[in-house]
Amino acid sequence: MPAEERICSYSTVLMGSPILLKLFSHDEALAKQVFGRIKRLEDLLTVNRADSEVMAINHAAGSHAVVVSRPVFNLIKRARAVSLLPGSCFNFTIGPLVKRWKIGFHGDAVPPASELQALLALTDPRLVSLDEQNCSVLLEKAAMEIDLGAIAKGYIADVIKHYLQQQQVDRALINLGGNVHTLGAGWSVGLKKPFAAAEELIGVIGVAGKSVVTSGIYERYFAHNGRCYHHILDPQTGYPLDNELLSVTIISDDSLDGDIYTTLIYGLGVTAGLAYLAAVPQIEAILVTKAKEVILSSQRQFSFSLLDNEYRLR
Ligand code: ADP
Ligand code: MG
Ligand code: MG
Repeated sequence: MPAEERICSYSTVLMGSPILLKLFSHDEALAKQVFGRIKRLEDLLTVNRADSEVMAINHAAGSHAVVVSRPVFNLIKRARAVSLLPGSCFNFTIGPLVKRWKIGFHGDAVPPASELQALLALTDPRLVSLDEQNCSVLLEKAAMEIDLGAIAKGYIADVIKHYLQQQQVDRALINLGGNVHTLGAGWSVGLKKPFAAAEELIGVIGVAGKSVVTSGIYERYFAHNGRCYHHILDPQTGYPLDNELLSVTIISDDSLDGDIYTTLIYGLGVTAGLAYLAAVPQIEAILVTKAKEVILSSQRQFSFSLLDNEYRLR
């Protein structure tokens, strides 16, 4: 029997995204365990509800340190380190700007420049103090807000992969709304065509046991006066990042790395992004540009077949 016919798919909606689990045996109980774990992690990390661990930190901004669980602390520690890299456009204290723009949520509109300017004063990652011993986090200024939206799915995908490995699963795929993680060989992951119907693909990425994360300006955006305002913000200006890129896909061992690097490379743009990636051989990328080019950083950990002839490989 061909492998495709033996795949059992389980789906749900969590983190505001479609979640898909593919297994090679019918195992409803395992799927339930996986979805339950995703839900519990979402409950710790979300900023779209009032009562997560991250929101407890945000509520105490300018006032006191908040003790969090060790995994949340470690994730915040990594986010802070990446935010402080020279030239990094990744900034986990971007919360006040994300909340103000509301991109992808009801009421999104272009805020007045003066308001954005004022909010930039609240997005300094150096103003987050971490206490390793107590496992606590303090935001030094009132109204500061941590937002882990760029990395929560990647982190959760890694936890789920680890759980599946512990359950002796040797072949599976988990898709957390665009963060795909795989166990075992023979997986094909579609690269979505920007601004097209969901099932239209630019090409197909072949991987074995790798994470494939895509972040694009067509995922969550609104259009106003002929401009596209999307959900990846430039912490220097307060506006959506604007360059020649439509999307960045990262192929890596860990999905958290994939999530971090999609944002980092998106912010660097094509030339600086490729130069950056050349120094990190374990991270590979597929860049899609507004000029309809598909640029592969290298191809050691994946294969790519182009399906759409509007796009060309560079
Ligand atoms: P998703 O796949 O859920 O759309 P992405 O991984 O593409 O998320 O990251 C986008 C999210 O990251 C935004 O919705 C916001 O919460 C957060 N974000 C926006 N700009 C930045 C930034 N410069 N640095 C870190 N996080 C950001
Ligand atoms: Mg991301
Ligand atoms: Mg994404």
